[in-house]
Amino acid sequence: MSADETEESEQDRTPSDRVDVCVVGAGPAGGLVAHRLADRGHDVVVLEAGPRFDPADRLERMERAIRPIHGDDEVWEMSGPRDEFTTPGELFYPLNVARVKGVGGSTLHWQGMVMRLHESDFERRSRDGVADDWPIAYGDLRPYYAEAESALGVAGASDNPFAPPREEPHPLPAFEPSHSDSLFAEACERVGVTTHAVPNARNSEPYDDRSACVGYGTCKPVCPSGAKYTAESHVEKAEEAGARVLDRVPVQRLEHDSAGERVEAAVYATSDGEEHRQEARAFALACGGVENPRLLLLSESEQYPDGLANSSGLVGRHFMEHLFAGMGGTLERRTRQNHVGFITSESHQFYDDPGAGAEGTESSVPPSDDDLGPLKLEFLNYAGPSPVETALSAETWGDDLLPQLREGYGNHVAMGALVGQLPRAENRITLDPETTDDHGNPVPAIYWRIDDRTKRTLARANEIQRTILESLGVDIEWTVGPDNTGPAYHHMGTTRMGTDPESSVVDPQLRTHDLSNLWIPSSSAFVTSGAMNPTLTIAALALRVADDLDSRL
Ligand SMILES: Cc1cc2nc3c(=O)[nH]c(=O)nc-3n(C[C@H](O)[C@H](O)[C@H](O)COP(=O)(O)OP(=O)(O)OC[C@H]3O[C@@H](n4cnc5c(N)ncnc54)[C@H](O)[C@@H]3O)c2cc1C
Ligand code: SF4
Repeated sequence: MSADETEESEQDRTPSDRVDVCVVGAGPAGGLVAHRLADRGHDVVVLEAGPRFDPADRLERMERAIRPIHGDDEVWEMSGPRDEFTTPGELFYPLNVARVKGVGGSTLHWQGMVMRLHESDFERRSRDGVADDWPIAYGDLRPYYAEAESALGVAGASDNPFAPPREEPHPLPAFEPSHSDSLFAEACERVGVTTHAVPNARNSEPYDDRSACVGYGTCKPVCPSGAKYTAESHVEKAEEAGARVLDRVPVQRLEHDSAGERVEAAVYATSDGEEHRQEARAFALACGGVENPRLLLLSESEQYPDGLANSSGLVGRHFMEHLFAGMGGTLERRTRQNHVGFITSESHQFYDDPGAGAEGTESSVPPSDDDLGPLKLEFLNYAGPSPVETALSAETWGDDLLPQLREGYGNHVAMGALVGQLPRAENRITLDPETTDDHGNPVPAIYWRIDDRTKRTLARANEIQRTILESLGVDIEWTVGPDNTGPAYHHMGTTRMGTDPESSVVDPQLRTHDLSNLWIPSSSAFVTSGAMNPTLTIAALALRVADDLDSRL
C-alpha cells in the first residue's frame, strides 16, 4: 500500500485565478487558517506538498506500525529524495520521524497532548533574565486557546492547580487515569507531588462527527478509528466551506512583486514536471518549523539575496526543540502497561519553579538552587514491551512463546519529562549546498546542540523522577538524561516573532516585517519554547492570524 495507489491522477492541479488567500501547507496551522477564512467567505487555495492519505488505509497503516520489520518513517512514507536532509551540527536530528508530509501534516503521526503555555513562558527574559520575552502575553492568546480547544476537541479536566487561568471546562470530559497513574499518584503523594489529568486532542466521547476512542493503543503513529484529532478534519471543513485543496504540489518558492513589498505568487510543482504560479492577495506560510524557513531561504531573489523576509538575517535561526528526560524499570506489582496508547496523567508542579522542593507524607523532593528552565513530568502508559510487539519479533510460536510473553510483560513502569531549550542563534536551519531534493532544491541542514541550562534542567527532571520512582519501589533500569537525551519532535523558533524588524522575522500578528501580505502561522514564530507540547499554541496563533487576515482582506 502506498499513497500513490490512492492518487486521484485526474485531479485538476492547475492554479486558480488570483484568490484572496493562498495557504501553503495542510497541517493544523494551514487547515485552521483555511477553514476560518473560507468559512468567512474568502476565496482560499491550499497547496500541500504531500498526498491525501486514504482514511480506508488506516488499519493497514496501523499494522505496518506494529510490525517490527517496518521503520518509523515508513508508516506515513517519509523518506527518499523528497525528504532528504542533513544534520551537520553537533547532534544528529532525526527529521523524517519528526514530521509527516500530507494532508493533516504531522498530526497524522502525533500523540495529541494539548496544553496551554503558561504566562511565564511569554516572559522568560523578565522573569529569568534569559532568552527574550514574547511581544504578546498569555492574555492575548487566552480566547484563542479556548477556540482552539473547541476546534481540536480537547478532552480534559479542571483538576490542574498549576494551569494558567481558563474560562470554561474543556469541551470533552477527561480520560480516566490509567492503572499505573493510580500507583504513581500514591507515590507522588508520599513525596509531595500533585498529579492531574492531561488535556488530549482525542475523543473521550463522540465529537465533531468522529467516534470515541476505542483503545487501539497505536495513537502514535496512526489512529484507525479517527478518535485522535488530525488536521484532515479542518482541511475537509475548509473544502466544505469552499476552499480548494491541491495535494502533491510542493511549493518551490514564493515570488514577490517588483517593489519587493508583497508576495505575488507561490510557484508549485506537479508530478508531471510542470511548474505553476498561484497568485493571491495574501499568503499564509504553514509548512512547519523546518520547511517554513527553508522555503523562505529558497525564495531568494536579486532583491533579497539572503532569502525572503530575511532582512534580519534570522530566518532559520533560533531553532528549538523540547528535550526528553526519562526513567523506568520494574516493580513487583502488576502495572498494566500498553493497555492505553496515550498519557493520562502529568504533573506541572515544577513548571514555573523547577527548583522548588516538595514535602510529602513520608518523604520529599529536594530543592535545587540551580538556574533552571521549565519542565513538565509525564507518567507513561507504555513502559516496557507490549505483548504484541514481543510476539511479532519472537522466533517461536504458540505455547513456546507464552513463557517469553509472561516474563517480558506486566511489571514495567516509567516516567517521562519535557524540558524547554533556550533559543540560540547558532541552532539553525540552513540550505545544504551539497544535497538536493527530487526537484533539485537544496535540502534543509540542521545545526543543533543543547545549552547548559537545558542540560541542568534535564538533570533536575531526572532527580525528581528518581525520587518518585524510588518511593514507588521501582528497580530503576534505564535513564534518559542530559547525555543521551533526544527531541520530542517539536520544531520551533525559526521565524521568530518580535516588534523590532532587526531582531525578529514576523510581527506580533505573525505578519512578516518585510512583506506586507505574508503571514507565518506556526511554532516557527515562537520566541521561547516553554516545555508544553506546542500544537495547541500553534492552533491558537493560527486562529488569531485568520482573524487578522479576515479584517484586512
Ligand atoms: C511523533 C510526533 C508526536 C507528536 N506529538 C505531539 C503532541 O503530543 N502534542 C503536540 O502539541 N505536538 C506533537 N507533535 C508535533 C505536532 O505534530 C506539530 O507541532 C504540528 O503538527 C505542527 O503543525 P504545523 O501545521 O505547523 O506543521 P505540520 O503539521 O508539519 O504541517 C506542515 C505541512 O506543510 C507541508 N509542506 C511542507 N513544505 C511544503 C511546501 N514546500 N509546499 C507545500 N506544502 C509543504 C507538509 O507536507 C505538511 O503537511 C508531534 C509530532 C510528532 C512527529
Ligand atoms: S487509543 Fe484511541 S486515540 Fe489511540 S489509536 Fe486507539 S482509538 Fe485512536
